[in-house]
Amino acid sequence: MNIATEINREQLAEVAAESIKKINPNSKDGKRWINAIAKAVIEIENNPFMSFDADSHSLLMMSETSNTIYTANGTCQCKAFEKGFPCRHRAACRLIMRLLETTR
Ligand SMILES: [Zn+2]
Repeated sequence: MNIATEINREQLAEVAAESIKKINPNSKDGKRWINAIAKAVIEIENNPFMSFDADSHSLLMMSETSNTIYTANGTCQCKAFEKGFPCRHRAACRLIMRLLETTR
C-alpha cells in the first residue's frame, strides 16, 4: 500500500501520541525514541516514496536527502541504527503497523 495517500492523519496523530505517552523520557534512548516518532510522523505525512508490505511487516522508504531506500522492520540500514540508536524509519514502521491494527 502507498502510505502517504492512504493514511488517516487524525488516526496517525492519535497513534503517535499514544506511543509517545508510553515512553519514559528518562529511560535509555527514551528521548531519542520520542524524537524519532515525531520525525516519523512528519515523514509519513510528507514522504511520497513510502510503502508498507503487510506480509513481511516491512516499511520501504526512500530518503530524498540521502537518496537511499531503507527497509525498516526491526532492523534498518541507516547510520542511527548502525550506532544502536532509535531511528525514524523503525519508528515509522511501528506507527504504521499500529495504525493498521487499530483500523482493522
Ligand atoms: Zn533507520
